[in-house]
Amino acid sequence: MSDGASRRGFFRDLAAAVASTRDAMAPEPAAAEPPPAPAAAQLSDAEIERYARQLVLPEWGAAAQLAISEANVLVVGVGALGTPVAAYLAGAGVGRLGLLDPDDVELSNLHRQLLHFTPDVGVPKAESAAAKLRFLNPDVVVEPYQVRLEEENAAALLEGQDLVVDCSDSFATRYAVNAACCAAGVRLVEAGVLGLSGMVMSIKPGRTACYRCVFPVAPADAPRCADAGVLGPAAGVIGSLQALEAMKLVTGVAPAVADGFLQVDLASAEFTRVHASRRADCPDCGTL
Ligand SMILES: [Zn+2]
Repeated sequence: MSDGASRRGFFRDLAAAVASTRDAMAPEPAAAEPPPAPAAAQLSDAEIERYARQLVLPEWGAAAQLAISEANVLVVGVGALGTPVAAYLAGAGVGRLGLLDPDDVELSNLHRQLLHFTPDVGVPKAESAAAKLRFLNPDVVVEPYQVRLEEENAAALLEGQDLVVDCSDSFATRYAVNAACCAAGVRLVEAGVLGLSGMVMSIKPGRTACYRCVFPVAPADAPRCADAGVLGPAAGVIGSLQALEAMKLVTGVAPAVADGFLQVDLASAEFTRVHASRRADCPDCGTL
């Protein structure tokens, strides 16, 4: 038996064992129905090989792999945060990945937006990122859209999405995404990065504090990356945290950072969990 075949056998057995343990821990169903096929049996040999290092995690396993393979995720903005988010989600095997960005790649993007290369300057960011992601994982359906999410088109863009990851760089877009996700009941991961610091938060509409609950109004004179600057690895850290939150929300493998946010100061290497609650008068989620 080749190393590859024996490794696949090992992971298939392991995934089946994890799935059966989960089945044993699950409450008894009310009616006697035939048990579902073990999740591991639904993964191909190639999938078991590709996702071996996450399948082997006790928190992940075949059930989480199948959950992410069925997920429709929309990434809003394929720049500093959106490129690590999209790369990790495609690598992890998300089913369908929508990429939304109205802009073209610029030379000043390349130090931090790692899916765009020098020959891509002038190419739409959504197309540039999609091309790389199709090489990274051909099993993922990647759909690029060169469009800006605004109040008027948000509901249509969210149609059929299970999760939105907001990697935009403007407060207007963030509030539009938050309102649309609350209205549609679509889970959302918000984040922002500037200089050497950033934040990330997960939102389950109607269940946890939304972005507007936590930040009722945009700061009057918030600096932008173009003016204040940002270091590539800082964007990479925040984008990676955002991808991790997305994977938690899709699979439930660990509690998401909800009802508040994670404040990350990379100059002092401090991570601070800031708690917040839903607001009854929130215009976006108060009536949910
Ligand atoms: Zn709210």
